This record gives sequence, C-alpha cells and structure tokens, in this order.
Amino acid sequence: MLRPRYIPPDDIFPASPWAFEAVRYDAKLATQLVGQAETIFALSNGYLGLRGIAEEGTPVKEPGVFLNGFYEHRPISYGEHAYGFPLVGQSILNCPDGVAVKLYIDDEPFIVPAAEVLSYRRTLNLKAGTLNRDVRWAAPSGKHLRLRTVRLVSFAHRHLAAIEYELTSEDADVEIVISSELENRQPLATDSSDPRLAEGFVGRVLHPTGTRSERLRAILSYRTKSSGLTLGCGMDHAVTTGGAFTIESACDDDLAAVVFRGTLGPGQSIRLHKFLSYHYSDNATPQQIRSQTAWTLDRAMKSGFAPILDRQRGDVGRFWARADVAVETEDPRTQQVIRWNLFQLLQASERAEGHGIAARGLTGRTYEGHYFWDTEIYVLPFLVYTRPQIARSVLKYRYDMLDKARARARELGHRGATFPWRTINGDEASAYYAAGTAQYHINADIAYALRKYVEVSGDEDFLRRYGAEILVETARLWCDLGFFSERKGGRFCINGVTGPDEYTALVNNNCFTNLMARDNLRYAAETIRDLEHNHPESFQALVFRTGLASDERSAWEEAAARMYVPEDDRLKVHPQDDDFLDLEKWDFAGTPEENYPLLLHYHPLNLYRSQVIKQADTVMAMFLLSDQFTPEAKKRNFDYYDPLTTHDSSLSVCIQSIIANEIGYRQKAMRYFDFAAAMDLSDIGGNMMHGAHIASIGGTWLALIYGFAGLRDGNGCIAFRPSLPDEWFRLAFSLTIRGRKLQIDIDHALTTYRLLEGEGLTFQHAGEDLTLSATAPTVARPTPPAPTAPQPEARPTDDPSGDS
Ligand code: BGC
Repeated sequence: MLRPRYIPPDDIFPASPWAFEAVRYDAKLATQLVGQAETIFALSNGYLGLRGIAEEGTPVKEPGVFLNGFYEHRPISYGEHAYGFPLVGQSILNCPDGVAVKLYIDDEPFIVPAAEVLSYRRTLNLKAGTLNRDVRWAAPSGKHLRLRTVRLVSFAHRHLAAIEYELTSEDADVEIVISSELENRQPLATDSSDPRLAEGFVGRVLHPTGTRSERLRAILSYRTKSSGLTLGCGMDHAVTTGGAFTIESACDDDLAAVVFRGTLGPGQSIRLHKFLSYHYSDNATPQQIRSQTAWTLDRAMKSGFAPILDRQRGDVGRFWARADVAVETEDPRTQQVIRWNLFQLLQASERAEGHGIAARGLTGRTYEGHYFWDTEIYVLPFLVYTRPQIARSVLKYRYDMLDKARARARELGHRGATFPWRTINGDEASAYYAAGTAQYHINADIAYALRKYVEVSGDEDFLRRYGAEILVETARLWCDLGFFSERKGGRFCINGVTGPDEYTALVNNNCFTNLMARDNLRYAAETIRDLEHNHPESFQALVFRTGLASDERSAWEEAAARMYVPEDDRLKVHPQDDDFLDLEKWDFAGTPEENYPLLLHYHPLNLYRSQVIKQADTVMAMFLLSDQFTPEAKKRNFDYYDPLTTHDSSLSVCIQSIIANEIGYRQKAMRYFDFAAAMDLSDIGGNMMHGAHIASIGGTWLALIYGFAGLRDGNGCIAFRPSLPDEWFRLAFSLTIRGRKLQIDIDHALTTYRLLEGEGLTFQHAGEDLTLSATAPTVARPTPPAPTAPQPEARPTDDPSGDS
C-alpha cells in the first residue's frame, strides 16, 4: 500500500556519502519535483531558513524565507464556538525573498528549464553546509555561458545568508543584465483541502515601515499588525568583473533591486557576493531594526565571502565531529540518507536559541511553523547527546512559556500549567481540541525531556533554576486532572484525554498518558525532595515562585503510586485506553490504498469508533519508559498494536522500528527504519514538498541509537545492547554524556567503546558494567547475538504514509 513515492535515480542523484546532488539536468524530473527539490535543497540555521529555489526565482512551487518564531496572529473561526476554544492562532510568515538574482542574456531571461543545458550539477554539500550550482548552457544565439553559485545560511552569524554568483561568458561577447532583488511577495493562496497545511492570509501582512538604500545596499522594514513584530531585511553586494558594468538601484516598499548591466567578452566573468541580513524583534523600532540589519551587512561586507565560507565549513565540520553516524553497508545510499537527515537536525536547531523547533523546521510552512511535542520527544534526545547547550535552550524556551501555560490552565479550570499542543508564542494555537488541547500528554513529554536532559548532561543547575518549576506546575496539573476512582479500586484515573494516536480521541485512561503522567509526578516529587534536603535556597525560591504547599509532594507521590494502568487479562496487553479493545476493528482489507492517510478520507467519528491507530501510542510508551515493561509484555503489545497502526503520521515508523528490533523482529525493524530514514528523500508521505518531517528525522536518529545500538538511559544509567542489522557491516557514532565524549563502534563481532574526551565514564554493555578512564580509554566486547523472534506476517498496514 503506502510506499516510497520516489526513488532518486542513481544516474542523476548519485549516492554520495557527503552530499545530496543532482549531477545532470533532467527536464522532466526537474519539472515534476520542483516542490520536493525546494525542501531537499533548503538551507537553514535554525533561525533563518531559505527554501531551495534557484536564484532565477523560476521554477517555483512554494517560495519561502522563514525566521523562526516570526509570525502573525490570525483569527480561528469556528462554526460553533465554545468556551476555552482559542480564538487567535499564529502563523509563521514568509519574509521578503532576497535569494533572487535574475539574469538576462542579450535581454533574454535565463531560466534553467528553458535553456539548452550542456552540463549541470546542483549539490547540497553536507560537509561545507552550502548549496552549490554549476550550470553550462548555450544561449539561443549559440553563445556558451557558465553560472556557478554557492549559497549558505550562516551558522556563525544567525542573521546572515550569503550567495556567491559567478557568471562567465565562455566564447563570445554577451550583453548581461543581472538584477539582484529583495522582494516582499504578497501572501499566496493555500490549499484548504488539507488541514495540515498552513492557513493563508488574505491581503497585506507585512506593513512597510521604511526603507534605506545606498549604492549596492538596500534595507526594507516592516511591522506586523497584530503580533506587533518589526522586521528588517537587507541585501548588500560586492562585485568583481573583468567586463564593463554600470550599476543602478531602485528601492520601494516591497521591492529593492540592484541592477548590474554590461558586457562580458570571451572568457570574462562577473562575480557577485550577495549578503542577506534578517532581523526581527518584539520591541525594536523600525529604525532600530534597520540599523541592526545594516550592522550584519557591515560585518559581512568587511569580512568578505571567503572567510564566511571557511567559517561555515569549520562549523559544519565540528557538527559532524560530534554528531555523525557512520553506517557501512553494501548500499551507499543508506549513508547518504542518514547524513541528509542529520544535516536537517543541524539546520533545524543549531541557532534556534530562544525559540522552539517547528514540525517542519524552517523548510516549509506546514503546521504554520508551530512547535509540538515533536521537539521534546523526537529531537531533544539527539540534542542532549550531541549539543547539550541547544537542548538546554529549547527547554529554557518552554520554561519561558510557563506563565502562559499557567494562564491556559486557569482558563481550562485546572491547577498548575497546561502547555499548548501547538504554538509559536506560548498560546494554544490548536483549533481542534480533540486532537489538540486534549493531548495533555505534552506536559509529561516536556517533563520527560527535562529529565533526560538533566540526567544525561548533568546540568542540575538548570533543574534547580528552571526545571523544578515546570515539574511543580505539571505535577499539579496531573493531580488536578485525575482522581481516585472508586470504580477502579481507588486507582488514580485520568479521563477525557487524547494520547499520541490521533485516530482515537477524548478517551479515559490512555495508557501512554497515565504512564507518562506517573513519571512526571514521580520526577517532580523526587526533585522537590532533593531540593528541600540538599539545596534549601533553591527550594525556598521555588516555594516563593510557585506557592508550593507542604502537602503537595505527598499528593503527587500518592497519585503516582496509585496510577491506574489499564491491563487486559485475556489478551495480556495494555489496552490503549479504557474502551479501545471494545471498539470494532478497522476494515483494513476493505480500505483502498488511495484512502491513506485515513484522516483525509474518513470523518474523525469513523476513526474514533474503530480500532485503528495513526501512530505509535502504547508502543511509544514501551520505548520511552522501556524499563516499565517486561520483554514479553513488549512483544505482546507490539503484536497487538502494530497491525492496527496505519503510520499515517510520519512520527510512527521510527518508534515501531526500535521496539521491533528490541523484540527480535529484525526484518520489520529494518524495514521501518528504512521508511523513517527515507521519509523525505523518497517522499513516503507524498507531502515532503511542503517541508521536511523533523520529528521523523529525529526519530531516525532514535532508531539508529536506541534501536540498532540499543541505548537505554532510564535514570541516567547508560546501557547499550547493540544488534546490528544483518545487512550492515558497521555502525559508529559518538555521544556526549555528562561532558564526556564516548565513541561507539559496532560491527558484527565486536563493539568498541572509546572515551575521546573527559575523565571517566561507567556504562553497561549487554548487561556488563564497563568503566573507561583517561588511562584506559578503550574497551572492546563481543557484540551480543541479536535477539530474533519468528517474524510476524506482513500486514496491509506495514507500509506507512507519513501524514505529518
Ligand atoms: C501528529 C502529531 C505531531 C504533528 C506535528 C500530527 O500529524 O499526529 O503527533 O505532533 O503531526 O508533527
């Protein structure tokens, strides 16, 4: 049924280990994949993102220049309103596009699809962090030209992007016009048939607040009406040429252009360095934001392109030194796909400081640039183990939302805090409460991520300064939301929630939610106890900030101790919720392939009344809370739920892969892994043109490290139980654990651990305690035999569709 929509043909997209590139121009394919290529070749640093559109600006499907957290409010309208429904949503905005460098040869516009292309190469260089293009073509007049471009979004200066643009006339005199532009396009219409896509705006969203232009520089500034943000964007240029060129510039509210006009003789070139600067603020005046924009340009002009490029290489090189996952297999595509995924994690997070990580990063507007649980559960582990400072900043961003989460809890009639299911600015932006606000589990997900960060990084200071407050407020929420039910033997029950599986909504005792809430309550109680005894000053400050009462901790402990965890005696599985097992099973055999993802073809009510699952739910609990399930229970639950799971969300297969691997379903684990890894490059969900699936990408890392390398880190105890896929020869990566850097190298015979940085580290390999130190930094142990179980039969739902 659901399948890769697209397999990159080797002769066009070779399986290079450090690049994703098109090495020749195939007009048909290029036309077919315009939108997909915009996502694949997008560049971003976590603050500024540019979709991969050619400098000529054509062809284009979904133009996009995004700034993390730069949004406008938009009204949410309901046919029938009810109390507590958010009335105002938030939508990430498309900023003025400065990538455009339009070229006219003898007054004819150059665009690749219309040119007689002689050679072509477009490369996302994963080592340098650049998008490069090298095109040779014959103009209609028979003259030969060559265009080389290098584009980057700087990791060093998060407000800066830069383009090197070099045009050469190979064999004749040509009249050239190059128009380098910065354009504020008005909002584009959006497709309203797919609820996952961003809502459009009608009319002007960015209101001009002045321009500044001198010589080769232009700066535009705007204000958003409702969110009250000021935006500055600017471009500047350095030009070198052997030809004779004049320069003119024009600038109005929505378009600035610097036009280079002249002649190139045979063998002559013109080289432009175009620098782009983007800033926004919630308190700067337009004049201030224009100045900030100018300062970034000053800095770039002073430095010049080459040092910026060198610095980019250095920064990306350092990323790979800490985050690469090397896989040796017979299929070189595997390594390429993994590295492309890892590069997306770098791009989504590296300079996101002060913001969250949106469901599509900065590669598209789907889900309106909102942050979901995707960040904490799918991306944060990668950050914790490779870039703890960024994990900290992402969690700090959640902390900064706490007051809004408290206010939302009041609005919903709860104590504590209720974090929004989807948001940019901390306000709930979810219009459909059944699959939005009702996903209370996000509160426990945040607490879970906090624990992982603190335990793995050892940053207790963060816990004391910020984390404890999150824990108090989320524990309060759970205590308020649940109750001790007489009918359930006095157990603590949580009703009226939606778990991760959005095909089942508003249920009582979602097993995942109850287990995660229990973990949240316990962690809150442990933390408070520790603060009270060992850090009295922090404890006092916490009491002051939260009004923590003396009996609260014991209430949390009691709720945790008596948490109701649904179990079914007959099937010996955890029911996904109180009623799930009573529902009629979905008619998979009678569901045509084209009806997936089901959410686009069936009313939610049909889904809600059936045993059909969108994404890992109980299976997710078995991954996150691994030590709370016996191996037998994991197998029974997986056997029950996996065949019911459509994987209509891209967040599913990576998690199913981890559990399948753990219980010995090695082929299934591999297959699910392949789907997760290729979610975007093979367009599994058919929607990658709208942006990269960042959660699935983070999940691919999870499936490698928690799946095949068998990492488990409950309570901060690091343990590995590697089981390398039969098809692979080697898997190697490094992790940062409490400031130490550990390299793990797995082949079928041996697993070798090397302490690359830091004093000493104790961890487990296949149940054995190992300690590495500066004097004994390496140890090798036999790779344990992989668990195997008779493989379950392939079911119709084995192929995922990847909705989100
Ligand atoms: C999934 C959610 C996810 C969201 C954003 C939805 O389709 O069901 O779990 O958070 O997409 O990625």
